[in-house]
Amino acid sequence: MCYLMIEAHSEVEYVTHHIQKIVAIFYAMRTFAKELEAKGHQLHYIHLDEKGKKSKSIALGVKEFIEETGCNEFHYQLPDEWRLDTELLQLSQELEKNGVKVQAFDTEHFLTPRDSFRQIFKGKSFRMETFYRELRKKYQLLIDEDGKPWGDKWNFDSDNRKKYDGKVKISERNWKSMNVSSVLSELENIKSMGEIDSSSFYWPNNRESSLLLLRTFIHKYFTGFGDYQDAMIENDPFLFHSCLSFSLNTKQISPMEVIEAAIKYYAENKDKVSLATLEGFVRQILGWREYMRGLYWNQMPDYKNLNFFKHKVSLPSWYWTAETKMNCLKQSISQSLKLAYAHHIQRLMVIGNFSLLIGADPDDVDRWYLGVYVDAFEWVEITNTRGMSQFADGGLAASKPYVSSANYIDKMSNYCKNCDYNKKTKTDSNSCPFNSLYWHFYDRHRSLLERNPRIGMVYHTWDKLNPKEQSAIRARAEFLLKNIESL
Ligand code: FAD
Ligand code: SF4
Repeated sequence: MCYLMIEAHSEVEYVTHHIQKIVAIFYAMRTFAKELEAKGHQLHYIHLDEKGKKSKSIALGVKEFIEETGCNEFHYQLPDEWRLDTELLQLSQELEKNGVKVQAFDTEHFLTPRDSFRQIFKGKSFRMETFYRELRKKYQLLIDEDGKPWGDKWNFDSDNRKKYDGKVKISERNWKSMNVSSVLSELENIKSMGEIDSSSFYWPNNRESSLLLLRTFIHKYFTGFGDYQDAMIENDPFLFHSCLSFSLNTKQISPMEVIEAAIKYYAENKDKVSLATLEGFVRQILGWREYMRGLYWNQMPDYKNLNFFKHKVSLPSWYWTAETKMNCLKQSISQSLKLAYAHHIQRLMVIGNFSLLIGADPDDVDRWYLGVYVDAFEWVEITNTRGMSQFADGGLAASKPYVSSANYIDKMSNYCKNCDYNKKTKTDSNSCPFNSLYWHFYDRHRSLLERNPRIGMVYHTWDKLNPKEQSAIRARAEFLLKNIESL
């Protein structure tokens, strides 16, 4: 048996990726290849531009390898993305016609088999909470012997929404730093975005460094995770977050070992970690992560074209430079470009919120998110971006659009303190753009949203404003929409 690993151009070029994302993936692949060889496995590794020959796609690389070696069997692990799944299915049919035996294997790095999703969701409401509770029962996680959830509650979400007040110290991140200059030097001709420091690179490159990241999170940050899960502060991009998504999505560690590590630490340290924190963390991985994958495989390929609001606005150019006066967006975007990382609330309630309010084309928004984050792979990116954040699926992932005025951003962060705009006003020339765009969004989409039971109050409040005030808000929002580039 021979392992075949390919750095394919098609995988690098299907979207403009952050340079750290490309380097992190190739570096992890190369490390894995070395580890396989060290264990005595036979391996053929095709670099991006090997001997002047371009490895165009995975399918072409496999075909060429089979032709050159006369190999008569091809085994592959089912990929996580529709695009690659289709490519490999077509390849398999072609190979089988030529007498090559093909077998595909499901991955062990998720807790729900891919082919079970259509059955699981059949006839049921497509909500995360239902799905998550069933998985809790299936794996007997955070459940008493009599089947009751720990603490008599399935969901502690409301306990996990504190603003960061500086009282709990955030430990300094001492990442294990690596030199990736050798990988970077081979990528000079590849179009990419974002920044990189190749002499001190830190995204994990193997199982050992991912396990180290997991241990560090559990011992140093887990305690504050629940309380400050939704908090945002200037100059601390990671707060108490785990930064494990890259390791999980590239299968360096498995979701169950992350969940088990959290449960073990909680059991031994109940004086330090609350049940709300534990449940909040488990829900992200067992609930949201598995659910988004289910939504993806249940809804693709149609999902990729959903555009509930028919939004068509292009993203402003400052999404690639962070040159905006709006401090929340400046902080969240500059951090994304610098680190290839932003945590959930920055992605959802700052960048996603603004994108939805301006009516950004979901195709553009998807491309930006899929490119910029180190952990972005379509199955988990598109469901979060097009679904949860842009509501382009009309409410499959989220029960209402995630939009807000400055009020929410100010409640959860310290961004508004250093902003040129006034968080309190709606219609003055320096009023926070979120404040009028929020109402403009609801006003222009009234026919699509007003029957949503979770939104009724919004229209009730809007209708109570006097017509003069409504006109002023509309005018301010329309001015902003015409001048997005200069905000
Ligand atoms: P933590 O806050 O420490 O959470 C722990 C783990 O829970 C994460 O590592 C992740 O595996 C899982 N998780 C948490 N929330 C989600 C979620 N909504 N969906 C799936 N898994 C979740 N996550 C990705 O892995 N890839 C993406 O491309 C991606 N794109 C996103 C786009 C938008 C618009 C939004 C709102 C969210 C997106 N997320 C994505 C989910 C979430 O923001 C990231 O998983 C998280 O920020 C990664 O940082 P962390 O590892 O420090 O997470
Ligand atoms: Fe963002 Fe508005 Fe606050 Fe400025 S005032 S940081 S634009 S929410």
